[in-house]
Amino acid sequence: MNIQLHIDADHVATLTFDRAGSTANVFDRPTLEELDGHLAALESHAGLRGVVFISAKDKIFIAGADLHAFVSSPDPDALAGIIDLGHRVFTRLSRLPVPTVAAIHGACLGGGCELALACDWRVATDGKATKIGLPETQLGILPAWGGSVRLPRLIGLPAALGLILTGKQLAAVPARKVGLVDDIAHPEYLADAARALLARGKRPPPSFRPLHLPLIRDLVAAKARRDVLAKTHGHYPAPLKALEVCTAALGQPVDMALALEKAAFLELIRTPECASLLNIFFQQDRAKKLSVPAGTARPVRKVAVVGAGVMGAGIAQWTSARGLPVVLRDVAPDALAKGLRTIETVYREAAKRRVFTPAEATAGMDRITPAHAPVPLGDVDLVVEAAVEKLDAKRAIFADLERRVRADTVLATNTSALSIDAIAQNLAHPGRVIGLHFFNPVHRMQLVEIVRGPRTDDDTVATTLAFAHRLGKLPVIVKDSPGFLVNRVLLPGLVEAVRLVAAGHSVAAIDQALLDFGLPMGPLRLADEVGLDVALHVANDLAARLPHLPGPDPLLAKMVADGHLGKKSGRGFYDHAAHQPINLGLPPPAPADYVDRIVLVQVNEAARCLAEQVAASADDLDFAMILGTGWAPFRGGPLRYADSVGLPEIVRHLEALAASDGAHFAPCDYLKTTSAFHSASSRGVASDARSTLSPP
Ligand code: NAD
Repeated sequence: MNIQLHIDADHVATLTFDRAGSTANVFDRPTLEELDGHLAALESHAGLRGVVFISAKDKIFIAGADLHAFVSSPDPDALAGIIDLGHRVFTRLSRLPVPTVAAIHGACLGGGCELALACDWRVATDGKATKIGLPETQLGILPAWGGSVRLPRLIGLPAALGLILTGKQLAAVPARKVGLVDDIAHPEYLADAARALLARGKRPPPSFRPLHLPLIRDLVAAKARRDVLAKTHGHYPAPLKALEVCTAALGQPVDMALALEKAAFLELIRTPECASLLNIFFQQDRAKKLSVPAGTARPVRKVAVVGAGVMGAGIAQWTSARGLPVVLRDVAPDALAKGLRTIETVYREAAKRRVFTPAEATAGMDRITPAHAPVPLGDVDLVVEAAVEKLDAKRAIFADLERRVRADTVLATNTSALSIDAIAQNLAHPGRVIGLHFFNPVHRMQLVEIVRGPRTDDDTVATTLAFAHRLGKLPVIVKDSPGFLVNRVLLPGLVEAVRLVAAGHSVAAIDQALLDFGLPMGPLRLADEVGLDVALHVANDLAARLPHLPGPDPLLAKMVADGHLGKKSGRGFYDHAAHQPINLGLPPPAPADYVDRIVLVQVNEAARCLAEQVAASADDLDFAMILGTGWAPFRGGPLRYADSVGLPEIVRHLEALAASDGAHFAPCDYLKTTSAFHSASSRGVASDARSTLSPP
């Protein structure tokens, strides 16, 4: 039983969602049927005065539909059946003759929000856990239990599109501002506030909205469509379909509008984009629950961060924001002061966005103890080293740390590429050394690579994994090998892009081709963002340690020597003051297929990583590339993309490029001998081939 019905002496019914054996409430078929049964009972309850829907969970009202149900039943009739059931139950709710109120505390998303929309009134708590929204388009589908129909009627088309097309989730205050909730209450008074709303009776029909007149509605939709296309480059069918349904539904009676919603859902759920996005969602869930077979996680109550530069400051801020005290150590007082200023800015801006209250931001700042002289670290359970990227410097830091910390303190390094084992080499306890590779900026990037060295012990892995979870990061465990996983797959694409520029190809054309393919940023702009000096260093380092990789074209070293370091110096592959790509003035060569070259070298490297077990699975690898670099989520990552094209075709292209353009394109053995990276069933309901490659 997942829902309890209680009817009090005043004839007010309360339906309390409390899914058995879980911390979350979700909608699956049995829960919808249970709700249907309760509604049927309430319909025939004489003297009933109102119904309140509430949750017994700490942080969740109703988190949405159980998505596994959609994936495990690809049969179209079964899918249509579950949509029909949701429509029937929520319509039944909306037609109860007595007033209904959703009393919302915690996540009220997807199907949970659709239940709330079917009620007459909504009250939400001002607690941090409360977030209300319809995130379906982010999963490649659309709200299909009435959300696409009821939200525009409730808050108007422009505001509804603002939420549905982006999947944005609102806290109580902005939700009230747009009219999504009618009242706000402290969690303690939520039930009382809900009862007070019952006194308003049934909700009157919506008032006339001039923006819903057909001509104006079409203008609103056209603008929303332009905004979606500018953001998605047309790669994501779900927001466009949702836009079409929300707009068309406004002019239809509810029953017909719901039919539009259902047809659109059944179309979207079969797209490869939806399969990829749902898979990312499941991978995120898996990363949140990732565990290791051996080892015991020791508690981490206090942390030290060594180095207060870009990464150290970011890591210290994030750790302190999660409630842990942090000693932030840097040898340079100026660097330490700068790091603290950066941290203050992150807190201040987060407070502006209401992520923290000003008091929480101050408390977070107060948890950081700066130190520029050596300090005792006997009470520290885990150290993250984020000092300069030099092996000797890191070895010296770790030798010093080993004298200062307890024997069981975990020593983690944020190195981008150095060998964990080499850093641990001269230590008395190398088993406690591990890589914990955050991405920049730390407060935005969810991924962390946990790099296990050959001597890293099980308890250290378990403790670091638990720490990553405590920080709310999504970890992937990778092998201690050059560039680890993400940089190793990313870099060959950058190197290839530089080679093309050196041959006279246009910076703008190369970047545009990869943007059109679906990467969030062209490779040359990305190189400018990272810093050409850093890109040069990493590319040289990888080429030195992985002989199959070509070194970067001499153009890169020349640009660095000339002081053109990318964004930080104002000039790299772009002139950042003029917002223009540079032009080397070379005669333009014959047009080339940029995507084939740049993406396929990444696919080839990804295949090598899998063969060498740098990542444990194709899912891990794709997930890390999507989270760490934004690698075309709708394509599902480089390996899923390769599967959708077909590996024999990828191999044919690489062989043709190897013959015409250089041996570094030669497909690796693993690519040649594997039929697919992912099983066909894991590729989703439909796995249409989507080759973007030009004929070889
Ligand atoms: P940074 O140059 O911004 O900061 C390094 C800081 O370490 C400086 O403030 C320096 O004064 C301090 N430092 C040097 N020696 C020290 C010592 N012995 N003890 C204490 N502090 C010392 O560098 P960053 O970009 O923050 O990178 C730090 C580490 O993180 C490097 O290993 C880098 O490869 C890695 N990393 C960087 C990024 C990135 O995007 N910048 C991303 C992931 C990982």
